[in-house]
Amino acid sequence: MAEVTLDNVTKRYEDVTAVDSMTLDIEHGEFVTLVGPSGCGKSTTMETIAGLTLPTEGTVHIGGRDVTNLPPKDRGISMVFQNIALFPHMDVYDNISFGLRLRKYDQEEVDRRVEEAADIVQLEGMMDRMPSEMSGGQRQRVAIARAIVRDPDVFLMDEPLANLDAELKVHMRTQLQRLHKQLDTTIIYVTHDQAQAMTMSDRIAVIDAGNLQQVASPLECYNTPTNLFVAGFIGSPSMNFMDGEITEDGFTSEYATIDFDPTTHDVEPGQRVTLGVRPEDVHLERDQSDAAVATRTFNVVTDVLEPMGDELFVYLLMERDVEASAEGRGEGQLLMSVGPDTTIAEDEEVTVILDREKIHLFDTNTGDAIVHGLEPKSVPEP
Ligand code: ADP
Repeated sequence: MAEVTLDNVTKRYEDVTAVDSMTLDIEHGEFVTLVGPSGCGKSTTMETIAGLTLPTEGTVHIGGRDVTNLPPKDRGISMVFQNIALFPHMDVYDNISFGLRLRKYDQEEVDRRVEEAADIVQLEGMMDRMPSEMSGGQRQRVAIARAIVRDPDVFLMDEPLANLDAELKVHMRTQLQRLHKQLDTTIIYVTHDQAQAMTMSDRIAVIDAGNLQQVASPLECYNTPTNLFVAGFIGSPSMNFMDGEITEDGFTSEYATIDFDPTTHDVEPGQRVTLGVRPEDVHLERDQSDAAVATRTFNVVTDVLEPMGDELFVYLLMERDVEASAEGRGEGQLLMSVGPDTTIAEDEEVTVILDREKIHLFDTNTGDAIVHGLEPKSVPEP
């Protein structure tokens, strides 16, 4: 059994705290992805699990054993990194079996393990190829096979798909999931790409500035993000945000008011809140049946359209004179995702509604989520 536990792990480099009191329990057999923007501390966390760096404080346990001060080779782990280093003068068989031969496994055992690993990553028939004769994806599969033959308790993968082209990335994503299904091992995976994290993992650990923000299933992070950071980071394109204030009647901002009863939503009049709604939860009024419970309508003007094939992104200006920001969405701009066949033009006046059940409220000051989904507004007695 190879559960991995980080207990209060902190890693400081002079004045940089790369990892800040991180506590994380990963169960045996789980596929957990550490995800966050560049520089947030993902690799450093991974290096402390691998034993490539020692934490300044805290402990690491693998399979119930305190490995905090053990070298990598004694931890029962195998690593696959972004920059795969295959031996250029060795063929596939020799590359995969190198570690086993170094450890003096007998030939029969080496052959058995290499064959099994090659089968899992679909490299059969390529044993004699040299790395220079292979594509990037094939080379990456050799690196993964080399990790598999060691029969590790835990796989550590740090951006292993980063150097592959988009199509191959998607292909390797499914391969890695299959690998996880076949091998009874724990996989810890690092990526800055939230799409990779969402598609492959049992749970994702979202990190910002060395701090864990949320550890939960991909859908939980998507549907009930714990704070503004997770809400903005998970999901592409990202959630729309509007800064405003709570009133006696609900939410108000420069561009929008939405009615609800503050007393049933854990907010108080005067409180500064940020309203969040995902692009797919903004609907044209004429398609309002797409929303479970609609808010009041908003008159907006369409700005730029982005047809993606399977969906259509429509940038909306909540007022005509809103300045479109060069750096994405600013205040008063809203991104709507609609069906690809929707008839809509640029600079068109349209009426949209939001899905009340999909509106999130966050405390603007702390960033913490307050409410996921507004209740349907009770109709006042006549
Ligand atoms: P990520 O993998 O999320 O991109 P890293 O773990 O590589 O982030 O880095 C986290 C922070 O720690 C960054 O600010 C980085 O500059 C710093 N850092 C990482 N390694 C070192 C090191 N060896 N010396 C000094 N600072 C480092």
